[in-house]
Amino acid sequence: AKAAGGNRYEVADAASDARVIARHSLTNGLPAALEKGEFFIEYQPLVRLEDGTVRGAEALVRWLHPVHGVLGPDQFITLAENTGLIVPLGRWVLAEAARQARAWRDAGHDGEPLRVNVNLSPCQLRYPDLVSDTVAVLDEAGLDPAALCLEVTENDLIGADEEALRPLRQLADLGVDIALDDFGTGYSNLAYLRRLPVSTLKLDRSFTLGMQRAPADPVDVKIVEGIVSLAHTLDLAVTVEGVETGSQAEHLRMLGCDTAQGWYYARPGPPDRLHELALTDVAS
Ligand code: C2E
Ligand code: CA
Ligand code: CA
Ligand code: CA
Repeated sequence: AKAAGGNRYEVADAASDARVIARHSLTNGLPAALEKGEFFIEYQPLVRLEDGTVRGAEALVRWLHPVHGVLGPDQFITLAENTGLIVPLGRWVLAEAARQARAWRDAGHDGEPLRVNVNLSPCQLRYPDLVSDTVAVLDEAGLDPAALCLEVTENDLIGADEEALRPLRQLADLGVDIALDDFGTGYSNLAYLRRLPVSTLKLDRSFTLGMQRAPADPVDVKIVEGIVSLAHTLDLAVTVEGVETGSQAEHLRMLGCDTAQGWYYARPGPPDRLHELALTDVAS
């Protein structure tokens, strides 16, 4: 047991060394990765709970690393933020997603055009050209602002004054949808919600985990019920993430949630698949 203890110490040390090295090599590879076209986007459908129709998708960036294979955003977004690459990378994601949403529209699809959700990092929120860049991207793609939803996390907006919120407000005035991502995980007070230019709350997965199996966790049910009623009072739509089972989807629909996203419907995937899903009925 003593020897194991000693080994454990060595293993831990080696592992943290490996992490430092990995972080270095990832950071060094980041700027060139954008030029070399190593990033790609997967799309995960957003489904209207009322009738099971696909209303759009969230764009989720991945990095096809030449050595490490496909890396998820959790492995490189923080690095991109720390090195400033997040601004050009974020602009690329936005342009690519807008181009894709336009392609879905052109491919023909009955009903409302599919919309695309794009994540914004706090660095992008503070970037002075956010509004003009976004307008340029929409223009170039020939995409209606209403077909774009920008997701910002609750924590990124905490403490933001009118000045800091102005770019988001300008985008909202142009018709871009703003969603408050990971809602419920931060510490914003609820009255503050009224001052934000947001139209959708994206309820964090942690709130709906307890509803994956029947019977659902009664406390989670009460919390979701409360949030939905508050959101609707404030004229906000509610999107739920992490929907993995049919009973969870049905329960969330009965509680009045508007839109759902999760593995029950589809994992994030290539853009063409979204169009196929939109033409069929994912919930049936
Ligand atoms: P998020 O915005 O909360 O995105 C949802 C995450 O939950 C995605 O992870 C998605 O793959 C995962 N997910 C979806 N459905 C389910 C489900 O039913 N069960 C479970 N367990 N997980 C599910 P992913 O793709 O690894 O993205 C992680 C985070 O990286 C995102 O969290 C988002 O904050 C960030 N991110 C992704 N793309 C971008 C981007 O282009 N820019 C920036 N700034 N951040 C991004
Ligand atoms: Ca998101
Ligand atoms: Ca989220
Ligand atoms: Ca989340």
